[in-house]
Amino acid sequence: MLDLREAKNIVIIGGGTAGWFAALVLRRMFPPQTAIKVIESPDIGIVGVGEGGLINIVNALNSLNIPTSEFMQETGASLKWGFCYEGWRTGEKNDEYYHLFIDPRQAPFNDQYAGFLPKISGLFVRGIPLHQAVNGFPAIKQRVSQQEAAEMLVNGNTGITTSFHFDSYRTAKFLQKKAIERGVLHRQTEVIDILMDAHQNAAKIMTDEGAYRADFLIDASGLSRVVIDKKLKRQWTSFKDYLWLDRAIPFYVPHQGKNPELFTRATAMKAGWIWQIPLVERIGAGYVYCSKYLSEEAALKEISDYFQMEIEPQKTLNFEPGHYAEVWKGNIMALGLSSGFVEPLEATSIGQMLEQLFAFERVVTHSGWVVSDLSIDQFNEANKWCWNGIRDFLRMHYDCPRRDTPFWQEVSTTPYPDTYRAVKEVFAQRSPRMEDIKGYATGGWGGIFHAVNWMFVAQPLGLISEKGCRQELKYLPAEKIQEITQYIDALPNV
Ligand SMILES: Cc1cc2nc3c(=O)[nH]c(=O)nc-3n(C[C@H](O)[C@H](O)[C@H](O)COP(=O)(O)OP(=O)(O)OC[C@H]3O[C@@H](n4cnc5c(N)ncnc54)[C@H](O)[C@@H]3O)c2cc1C
Repeated sequence: MLDLREAKNIVIIGGGTAGWFAALVLRRMFPPQTAIKVIESPDIGIVGVGEGGLINIVNALNSLNIPTSEFMQETGASLKWGFCYEGWRTGEKNDEYYHLFIDPRQAPFNDQYAGFLPKISGLFVRGIPLHQAVNGFPAIKQRVSQQEAAEMLVNGNTGITTSFHFDSYRTAKFLQKKAIERGVLHRQTEVIDILMDAHQNAAKIMTDEGAYRADFLIDASGLSRVVIDKKLKRQWTSFKDYLWLDRAIPFYVPHQGKNPELFTRATAMKAGWIWQIPLVERIGAGYVYCSKYLSEEAALKEISDYFQMEIEPQKTLNFEPGHYAEVWKGNIMALGLSSGFVEPLEATSIGQMLEQLFAFERVVTHSGWVVSDLSIDQFNEANKWCWNGIRDFLRMHYDCPRRDTPFWQEVSTTPYPDTYRAVKEVFAQRSPRMEDIKGYATGGWGGIFHAVNWMFVAQPLGLISEKGCRQELKYLPAEKIQEITQYIDALPNV
């Protein structure tokens, strides 16, 4: 049991996006007499990547009463309407498909019927890419300005729910400012050890400038993982059999068009892919690759060939995809990069971190600040399923027809996780449904992706059966079929 009713000191190690979001949430969870302290090493710094959000970053800012307009202004943020996947099928530049952040209140996404979305099945039967049914898509192709895109969102008929691209350094600074304004304490010193009590709970945080007591401790120390790994050596669940990328070279490039694109571009390369995150002033980019098939030197050459310019690489990051099996035990929880990481293909890291943080807030407050071990076990189990969902969703992106390099050839022969196989099997019979993926969101967690997100990727990769969708429509009443036909016939450009 964890009793936090009389907690006096809560310590967060790390002043990155995870640490400062945690500080803001914990500050509102606990009364003013509980000190919330962020301890951040001035020498190590933050990872300095992680500039693309999911929808839940907007929800997080709203729930913390942080105006999104202020966030955008202070972090150099731009609007993000989704992702564009380039070269994942033929390897050509004109081979593009889109995964957009849709507004579930608008057609064709608002029309639930017996567990599925018939208008979408109708689109699949007619072979129409899902993005063509989103009103805002022409604006994406025309590369409208940020101002025009913002006005379109206000007018409300884009069919899009926006997220953001943002500068990671400015985001950490901005969240820090907000947290300090709300009473969070900040110490700039390096944590060198954790003293544990007889119950294997954290008791004192030892730093260069002295010891700090902790009734609860959050390890948000990024890839340093000072508590969960260095001190506690907790069990790691590796995804390396299913996701092979283990290196990333980040760099910046200037904008090449009239306005920042409204999406993150993910371009498939010889042994991985390049991300391009268009902020207002620059593009944050990086090549994530598999070191078994590509040296750093060859990766740099491929980058300059692709961009037709020399780039200035930042420090290469090494990682193994996966997460800690028990992120929360006793009075210690790991959050953000310190709790796990997979390649940033769908920008899931900050999204997962927020999901975990809000689930933590829910469990603690709904438990009346006295949390049972069973609740903590269930939390870890739900967190595991959240990660499994991310792993399987990413694995699906590699279920693609590219075979032109040894990397892509090996990808095509490696096994699927059983859970992804189960999802793929039913997608081959009919349209994807929430029922298929609800196992990834257990214990009251919301889940990172909706069935529609899966559809945006599964359809262009040929994983959804048109015949199966035709069959499921066959059982609908005639007037429903007519409604679907009229809807599709009225779509522009179809
Ligand atoms: C290549 C790459 C691309 C990514 N792209 C995306 C993306 O597009 N979208 C997305 O959502 N996420 C992305 N991420 C993940 C994203 O960067 C992180 O989820 C996010 O920045 C949060 O990081 P963090 O706060 O956990 O760690 P960090 O930002 O690294 O912060 C760690 C903090 O811990 C401190 N620290 C470390 N050791 C000590 C110590 N001993 N004592 C005191 N302080 C210490 C550091 O000084 C720092 O303040 C990406 C990550 C990588 C590696």
